[in-house]
Amino acid sequence: MTRFLQKLVIIFTSLTLSSFAQEFEYIPGTKFDPSIPTVEQVLGYKSGDDITAHGDMVRYFDALRNAAPDRVKIFSYGKTWENRPLMYVAISNAENIAKLDDVKTNMQRLADPRVTNADEAETIIADQLGITWLGYGVHGNEISPMDAAMQTAYFLLAATNMELVDNVMTNSVTIIDPQQNPDGRDRFVNKFREARGLVHDSSPLSAELSEPWPSGRVNHYLFDLNRDWFALTQPESQGKVASLLEYYPLAYIDLHEMGGNSTYFFSPPAPPNNPNIATNQWAALEMIGRNNARHFDSHGFPYYTREVFDAFYPGYGASWPAYLGAASGTYEQASANAMMFKRNDGEILHFRETVQQHLLASLSTAEVVATNREKLLRDFYNYRKSAIDEGEREDNRYYIIPTQNDQAAADKIAGLLTNKVLMFLKPRKISVHVVLNMMRAVM
Ligand SMILES: [Zn+2]
Repeated sequence: MTRFLQKLVIIFTSLTLSSFAQEFEYIPGTKFDPSIPTVEQVLGYKSGDDITAHGDMVRYFDALRNAAPDRVKIFSYGKTWENRPLMYVAISNAENIAKLDDVKTNMQRLADPRVTNADEAETIIADQLGITWLGYGVHGNEISPMDAAMQTAYFLLAATNMELVDNVMTNSVTIIDPQQNPDGRDRFVNKFREARGLVHDSSPLSAELSEPWPSGRVNHYLFDLNRDWFALTQPESQGKVASLLEYYPLAYIDLHEMGGNSTYFFSPPAPPNNPNIATNQWAALEMIGRNNARHFDSHGFPYYTREVFDAFYPGYGASWPAYLGAASGTYEQASANAMMFKRNDGEILHFRETVQQHLLASLSTAEVVATNREKLLRDFYNYRKSAIDEGEREDNRYYIIPTQNDQAAADKIAGLLTNKVLMFLKPRKISVHVVLNMMRAVM
């Protein structure tokens, strides 16, 4: 091919791609409030047309907060080893955001049935909002979650003709942690930008889709943060857990990616089931899964449940929040690995499609919490009460760690349990029985 022809092909391909992208709608038919900035207005490209760097995501959330300061609050929960900010964003209507501190206090009261009796709990539940916590991108090279977090916030603030959004904004607070592993995210993005060509390559063998060691899955010190939830060795985990313990969300969902030849996975998880998860928590996961299924069916998106991804190990995002009383689970989207991925069946999976499905599942989850807030709040209170009742009945009162050969390891586990577990629970006056139950659950 001559150089001229090559140029023509490139121009034609670029035009075709960009005109297709312009027609793409995440949820067809949605109308938006023009006073809320889009990704394109802030970052210069349409959502789904590039993989956003961490700092640009922070800029976008700042722009959303500046446009709607009465409906968006941004909180810092620390810094990564590479000094990137860790943050979560609370979104609800103006009336609810104004009383966010009361919403937190109410959850802390429901979390301690020794000081809040059943009648008081019912009074709180009558007016209390549901809280949904959505954690995105704990594996930094799983790329669609963070861009979906930005779109979830945009839809909640800007969509003007979605009943679901009105329900979620009225009856709940949605807490978005857009990127749990910023250092891993930017390690991936930097590699991707170095390797991509003028025209995107969809071959799984291309440089664009091949990530060198060490991948962005892990943080600066190559820890897998999705195994660190109860060991709490990394600043990303420590800040996140401290924040979760202020709110006690009713549902916690961790959003991930899996191989590009798959489809979409959501809870309930695969067996084996952890026996420490209560019946009501399983029922809530079932409800969340069925609502996702309803929305995915209406868009014709394939999905599966109860296979591959278990939640037995209590140090996952899919499981650890369950031991506070939340319905907690993982969502897994087939990854485009870059802007597009050629699947084994020959179909091309585009990045924007992967963002779209995580967006839909995020909104669907928040809808379940908003619609069923009273039931979920009552379940939460009863879960906390049952933990204390069981602690009263059982014989174990202490765990003794004797002096031993590997004293350093013994000191480490004792320090972890007393400093971390007790530090978080003591201010809330949780009984030692609950601590022991929690310890037993995680050991
Ligand atoms: Zn993952």
